[in-house]
Amino acid sequence: MNRRTFLAAAAAVSAQASPEKLASEGGAPVRRQPLKAKNWGPEFYDGQERQQLDDVVEARNPFRFSNPASTSKVALFERAYAAYCHTQYALAVTSGTAALHCALAALEVGPGDEVILPAWTWYSCYNTIIQAGALPVFAEIDDSFNIDPDDIEHRITPQTKVIMAVSLQGNPADMDRILPIARRHGLKVLEDFSQSVGASYKGRPLGSMGDIGISSLQQSKTITAGEGGAVVTNDARLYERAFRFHDVGLLQTPGGHRNFFPGLNYRMNEFTGGVLLAQLRKLDTIAGAVRANARRVYDGIRGLPGLQLRRLPHPEGELGSGIFIGFKTSSERQRYAEAMRAENVPVSSPGGSVVLPIVPEIENKVTVVPHWPSFETARGKAIRYGRDCCPRTIDILSRYAGVMMDPKFTPSDTADAVAAIRKVHPAVAG
Ligand SMILES: *Cc1c(COP(=O)(O)O)cnc(C)c1O
Repeated sequence: MNRRTFLAAAAAVSAQASPEKLASEGGAPVRRQPLKAKNWGPEFYDGQERQQLDDVVEARNPFRFSNPASTSKVALFERAYAAYCHTQYALAVTSGTAALHCALAALEVGPGDEVILPAWTWYSCYNTIIQAGALPVFAEIDDSFNIDPDDIEHRITPQTKVIMAVSLQGNPADMDRILPIARRHGLKVLEDFSQSVGASYKGRPLGSMGDIGISSLQQSKTITAGEGGAVVTNDARLYERAFRFHDVGLLQTPGGHRNFFPGLNYRMNEFTGGVLLAQLRKLDTIAGAVRANARRVYDGIRGLPGLQLRRLPHPEGELGSGIFIGFKTSSERQRYAEAMRAENVPVSSPGGSVVLPIVPEIENKVTVVPHWPSFETARGKAIRYGRDCCPRTIDILSRYAGVMMDPKFTPSDTADAVAAIRKVHPAVAG
């Protein structure tokens, strides 16, 4: 060995022995500018969305039902979305919240009924159950961040009607464990895949496995017109009921009054339908790019000693919205977050959802007016929310942090994410 190769080998050994100094301790950061994920859908807006909007302006008919179903943008979107979800029917509505409300009405959920939902999800899941007059019953999440199938069964009572299977932050709910529980107890399954549009579960599209599915198409979701939502189902009767509910209880067909019940107006307009049609054509591109970027990061950090990733029941189908790593304690997570921020690869706690049972207004059962049907039954009066109904959910969420992904991240962006995790993780996860 000559002098030069000896020195190079010695340098390599010492680099291994004493890792790079963390930026939080005065070392050079991995990146100069913070790595930041944006809202995905709008980043892909181009002439296609503009053309759709121009069409609607030209036609001067932005109300969907003034257009024949053969040309209505909303109807075209519905057909394409049903095809994407492998369902017979899709109904476009104004938001994910509206879609949940329609789905619960379709499932005949009302006063006296109970609906099981994860303790960590978006307000809309809880709020629409309350609006239906039914009683929300929380179940714990597990280390997939989705409802823990093992925590469902003991929450079932004779009043339970529906399980809300929510696929949170790009990770499909474990339907092969949830569906048999529902079947055994004669319950309906409502899939909420608002945060996982573009993901799949063991080759099956989300929304196609339960009795009815919904997704939001709001700005922070995979594809968007700013606002929007959809209900999907294979059941003609559920579709008809959801349709009625979204159109004041009528049906835009002869004989529409026959099965009337009072509904609301959640109809989508043609501008929204047009933008969503353009976005849907890009869904595979957007979801494919997010997934590919997440794969690069997963591949780059594989084998890190002590690495605990969020559990993925079906990794190939995951959307890859965030690379979530678990720590032993929340203070260890805190040290990781601080060190990652200094490297300019910031991480966030699991977000986009809320631990609902500990929201003070929910714990106190606040409703539009007092004496709300949800809390007037013996069960409704007796049920207690708050920390005691979901200690594991609170614990899990306090220990995880993730780098959020973006379809437009470059290979150098994902390489920086890998470099920062490889640099920081060994230093904090002792
Ligand atoms: C965003 C979201 C909703 C509500 O959708 P909006 O379009 O904002 O009304 C419902 N459920 C989940 C899981 C969500 O993430």
